[in-house]
Amino acid sequence: MPHKLRVLVAARAGWRCEYCLAPEAIFNSPLEVEHIQPKESGGADEAWNLALACRSCNGSKYLATTARDPLRGRMVRLFNPRTDGWDEHFVFKARTAEIGGRTAIGRATAARLRMNGPKQREARRLWMLLFSFPDAPPIAYGGDDPC
Ligand SMILES: [Zn+2]
Repeated sequence: MPHKLRVLVAARAGWRCEYCLAPEAIFNSPLEVEHIQPKESGGADEAWNLALACRSCNGSKYLATTARDPLRGRMVRLFNPRTDGWDEHFVFKARTAEIGGRTAIGRATAARLRMNGPKQREARRLWMLLFSFPDAPPIAYGGDDPC
């Protein structure tokens, strides 16, 4: 992936995972650029099909484009960071540090991407202490990017 494209995707995302909002500034490696529609099923290697994602979300999403809504049981498409609004589909629950789904798409995506495992919730509790997560961290990343 060309460096300029990676920087474009990261800057557009505010250097945060576009699914769970994990901030790149507190990781010891860059977040990943993932294909919303996987390359394996014809997804383009272009900005409109790319999203910034943490290892956890990207690894859990893998080749999926749909998932089951755990509340209603039907298959729905996953959240698309290019066309969907985060606040429309997700809600952060500070008491439990969980990301909940407001919609079938939000619920299915949170479940498929395993956004609420013990490690994810523990990290969010620390981020809440560090910078009032889900607000963005005060560190504006985007300096020297080794990619
Ligand atoms: Zn994530």
